[in-house]
Amino acid sequence: MHRPALPHSAREIFLLLLLAGTSGALRGAQPPARGAELPPWEQGMLDIHQINTGTGDAALFIFPDGTTLLLDAAGVNRAAARPSNYDAPPRPNTAGRAGQTVARYVRRVHPERGKAALDYAMLTHFHGDHMGTLMPDSPRSKSGAYQLTGITDVGDEIPIRRMVDRGWPRYDYPAPSGGAMMLNYRAFLKWQAEHRGLKVDRFEPGRADQIVLQRSRQAFPGFEIRNIAANGFVWTGSGTESRNRFPEGMLPIENNCSLAFRLTYGGFRYFNGGDMAGFLGANAPAWTEMESAVAWVTGPVDVHALNHHGTPDGANAFFLSVLQPRIHILSTYAASQPGPDLLRRLLSPRIYPGPREVFMTNGIWPGRREHMVKLYGEPETVWLLDQFGKLASTQGHVLVRVDRGGDRYHVIVLNDTGDTNRVTSVHGPYPSRGAATETRR
Ligand SMILES: [Zn+2]
Repeated sequence: MHRPALPHSAREIFLLLLLAGTSGALRGAQPPARGAELPPWEQGMLDIHQINTGTGDAALFIFPDGTTLLLDAAGVNRAAARPSNYDAPPRPNTAGRAGQTVARYVRRVHPERGKAALDYAMLTHFHGDHMGTLMPDSPRSKSGAYQLTGITDVGDEIPIRRMVDRGWPRYDYPAPSGGAMMLNYRAFLKWQAEHRGLKVDRFEPGRADQIVLQRSRQAFPGFEIRNIAANGFVWTGSGTESRNRFPEGMLPIENNCSLAFRLTYGGFRYFNGGDMAGFLGANAPAWTEMESAVAWVTGPVDVHALNHHGTPDGANAFFLSVLQPRIHILSTYAASQPGPDLLRRLLSPRIYPGPREVFMTNGIWPGRREHMVKLYGEPETVWLLDQFGKLASTQGHVLVRVDRGGDRYHVIVLNDTGDTNRVTSVHGPYPSRGAATETRR
């Protein structure tokens, strides 16, 4: 077996150390220690924060030039609304609204802190656990034009420059999106456009120029957001062309209308597909699952935010065998998430080879176990809880911090019980699968 020759002289060792030191400095700051405060984002880093409010999905992206994107804005404090313990307790506590928690989080980690504005905010689809459920007691904004929940809560506190969703401007495809929650969201868009200059765009599958770096695009040519799918249209992989998977006249479920995208930074790749399903119902036609079509054009990734919170209808075996994620982010909030078969698929070396780690935002809470037994039976619950003990983490905000250039990343779990950036655990470094300079593990 060939081994590289050892350096012979002190001079060579010195040069090697110098090189190692220099490349470390170029890559970015060293990872923080457990219990320490998270060091702030720096120019060239890519930060992806999966924010845990215990109520749904919200993720803040800080791109390498400081451009910011908020993807979804969480749900509603269900535990207060529905105290059955089926859902996770709200984080950090039951006092505020989920949208307020997201807004505070954004301010804490935003490169411009107090002056924080969001370059982009984007909704994967129109469900309450992603845009904020409208409750009868959701308070009105100061202007009185809309009620505060989820995205309207965040946008009321933090200026949003451009909103991207699947329905603008008519919200009638593939079927009209109605109801009080949608009317409230549209009232928010209207007021923000008239008074604060908000721009709104419809997410277009196939394009790679809709979400772009706003500050120094030329400095980071290896950065791209490729729109993969929305409203049943899936990128073909050629140019910006997309093809419709929904047959004329058929009504898809809202989850399958979710938008999906792939983020590339140097050798690093990340996928998010909202709540799209990967399983066909009994006797259902092929178009009722989206994951397979999406997987073909997405290809392998490093990090994957699980579709539909790890609910059993997501992450089919084909999808996983193509994406082969090293890191799974399980943004959970209900007792059903993850299902036992889904977790078996994630962990199965027969579906794809190589190591992988699972980071879950909400693990066990009082009363959860009895709901799991009702859903999955006692033996499966015992197996699930045993597996939870082996996951990389089961509670907290999950930050993927990619080094300058994109060749390497860490996963950092942050404490979610208060308004701090305290580090619970640090994982990695992981080499990006497309890294030019490092061997894949
Ligand atoms: Zn959802």
